[in-house]
Amino acid sequence: MILSMSQAPHIPLVDRYGRIHTSLRLSVTDRCNIRCYYCMPETGAQFVPKDRILSFEEMHRLACLLVQQGGIRDIRITGGEPLVRQEIPRLIEMLAGIEKLEDLSLTTNGILLADQAQALRQAGLKRLNISLDTLDETIFRKITRRDGLEKTLQGIDAAIECGFDSIKLNTLAIKGVTEPEVANLVRYALDRNVMLRFIEFMPLDSDRAWNHERVLSGDQLLSILRQTFGTLEEISRPDPSQPAEEFQIGKGRIGIIRSITAPFCGACNRIRITADGAVRNCLFAQTETPIRVLMREGASDDELLAAIRGCLAEKSEAHGINEQGFQPPDRPMYAIGG
Ligand code: SAM
Ligand code: SF4
Repeated sequence: MILSMSQAPHIPLVDRYGRIHTSLRLSVTDRCNIRCYYCMPETGAQFVPKDRILSFEEMHRLACLLVQQGGIRDIRITGGEPLVRQEIPRLIEMLAGIEKLEDLSLTTNGILLADQAQALRQAGLKRLNISLDTLDETIFRKITRRDGLEKTLQGIDAAIECGFDSIKLNTLAIKGVTEPEVANLVRYALDRNVMLRFIEFMPLDSDRAWNHERVLSGDQLLSILRQTFGTLEEISRPDPSQPAEEFQIGKGRIGIIRSITAPFCGACNRIRITADGAVRNCLFAQTETPIRVLMREGASDDELLAAIRGCLAEKSEAHGINEQGFQPPDRPMYAIGG
């Protein structure tokens, strides 16, 4: 009996520490409509020429391969800003049709979401993460070097109307910036019945201005939250690869992702493909495996999968940010895909 690719049993994507990879972050562009200082430079961002960006057909091929032969179960679309890429709903529809794929989500800054939320939902997108660092227009402009808070807020409301399976808000936790925003952001999320997660600032900014003092830590956040909302009840995490610690506040929940002060590398199940077709085994990896050229030169599925498995074999045990001599990766966040 000959089994089709979707029927054949998969061989898990395992690294040398036994971590099984079931989650793919797929970046669809390195371009963006704003310039958050923790990610992009204010001016002079270097973008990959368009002919080196993977086509939807190339992304679909890799996704099928990884789901059906590598055991990937969920795909998150990211960027740059994924909604600046033309026709994203068409890609969503292609990916949503992959047999055995269990979850399809997208991370966006929300600015173009009011126009696109309905089409994304109809195309088969299940979940959305929307970045929201502040509710103050002046602070928004300081962070992003652009206008756009109003559009983001409209995008969030439009997405809520569309009935996605889940909508989460991501707030970067930056010392000296986020503290006065914490209570308002939490109330804003609770009012809309969506979960907000604070994420500790990581050394992935183009400006290389990150340092430990700029991280608003999970402990500091909890202390601000307790002062405002009283006792917080921690909710136990059934899935160790889920990076957020969750806390009950009233009838809602908030999350804290302590990428710096309590890294979750030991349970990491993520693999990444950049918009220009490089496989990365970690945000902080110093090397990556380019597969775009391989693909365009006619590599077989087996050859592509072997290259991807080879990349995973090199994965480090942990990101090492808190260790002496740590060097951030060459690519900043927007060029990797967060
Ligand atoms: N443009 C989309 C957005 O901002 O939501 C998607 C791509 S963005 C790179 C994905 C996520 O990475 C966002 O939630 C953003 O806040 C986060 N991010 C960017 N730079 C970061 C950094 N230096 N440390 C931690 N998170 C960062
Ligand atoms: Fe753009 Fe997202 Fe980076 Fe901000 S974090 S500059 S929205 S890619």
